[in-house]
Amino acid sequence: MTLTEKILARAAGKHHVQPGDNVWVEADLLMTHDVCGPGTIGVFKREFGADAKVWDRQKVVIIPDHYIFTADSRSNRNVDILRDFVREQGLPYFYDVIDDPDGKWVFDAKKGPLARQFGANYAGVCHTALPQKGHTRPGEVLFGTDSHTCMAGAFNLFATGIGNTDAGFVMGTGKLLLKVPETMHFRLEGKMNPGVMAKDLILHAIGEIGFDGATYRAMQFDGPGVASLSMDDRMTVANMAIEAGGKNGIFEFDGQTQAFVDHRCKLNGTKSAYDPVERDAEEKFVYDTVLNLDELEPTVACHPDPGQRKKAKELGHIKLDRAYVGSCTGGKTSDFLEFARILRGKKVIIDTFGVPATPEITHDLQTARWGDQTIWQILVEAGVQMTENAGCAACLGGPVDTFGRMNTPLKCISATNRNFPGRMGHKESQVFLASPATVAASALTGRITDPREYLS
Ligand code: SF4
Repeated sequence: MTLTEKILARAAGKHHVQPGDNVWVEADLLMTHDVCGPGTIGVFKREFGADAKVWDRQKVVIIPDHYIFTADSRSNRNVDILRDFVREQGLPYFYDVIDDPDGKWVFDAKKGPLARQFGANYAGVCHTALPQKGHTRPGEVLFGTDSHTCMAGAFNLFATGIGNTDAGFVMGTGKLLLKVPETMHFRLEGKMNPGVMAKDLILHAIGEIGFDGATYRAMQFDGPGVASLSMDDRMTVANMAIEAGGKNGIFEFDGQTQAFVDHRCKLNGTKSAYDPVERDAEEKFVYDTVLNLDELEPTVACHPDPGQRKKAKELGHIKLDRAYVGSCTGGKTSDFLEFARILRGKKVIIDTFGVPATPEITHDLQTARWGDQTIWQILVEAGVQMTENAGCAACLGGPVDTFGRMNTPLKCISATNRNFPGRMGHKESQVFLASPATVAASALTGRITDPREYLS
């Protein structure tokens, strides 16, 4: 069995499963957020009763992150609905925007979008926050009401996005009926060269198979090249499995995975026992390829979908209006370090926005120093509009006052993960997906630019 099949077999209480089997699997974790949480709660109450209790309080994680820093009252209200539910159910894992458990969330537009407006428990973008807060354990099954839930596959989980109806059912029963997906195998060899990032790897892979090339399939990444990828890198790759239609993305477990997970579970006092799945000689794949990391080049997915692969060096004719670094995929500390490495001592010439995925990342950037400056200061000095309000921001457009949102038909190069029409705001805007390094180089020239031009 493949890594995915092994996890699903175990979660279904079976010795063996194969692609196409329909099995009831036990969930280890259900995650929801402010966009889908209220709907999920509505389904749960409708189907299980107004006084029903969730199947396991320790296994429900609620993370407001999407439409947070906006004066839109209905968006603010969604966070209040989550808070009311958490109080009613006594849920321990709720990463609220405010500190007062009886309060109401109201974004103060007068303070502006840049200065911190969240409390001590706020965790930022759910997919980046889950591992930081010690909720991703190898070998487990994670369901989330968000398509990029597959990001947790970086930690050797079966993690997948589900809709509100399924989530309401999981909330009540802890189970879900799943069809076992076929597995596509991506063996990684070699090591990426300077200027090339994990984003280039996954954009290359999606370009190979198309934006629907992995529909309802698992994408398994393994091989000797994995050792050179940090956990942040693996998260970027697994996150974008869904951009090829994948049911999930999954990495092999190794010493790096173990060190990260053990540290985070201990730090947060979350459950520390887990049982990873490992490869064996019996794996059967529906697709098998080798990706040589040392052959990769800075890559861009052009408008209008993540499969429109081109090399950055071929796109110098595309003039840009905006650059954006942020999201679960591209707003991690390592992403901002590569962004800052290119921008240090220079000035961007187009509007450039930076949104850390989590408050912990904001803190990292405001404390880590290169010389006598923090990374944050380097970016601000380069002309980047950096917000402390970590969250999804303009990655999915959001209300019109969302930081970085494209309210007119602009062309933007972005370190986010999805570029279908209208994704970051105006329906006639165009989004070019790229690594933070490519976004940085492009922000300096106003045209899509290969970051290797700025490497000394
Ligand atoms: S940052 Fe973007 S992709 Fe990630 S969870 Fe938020 S909206 Fe979705």
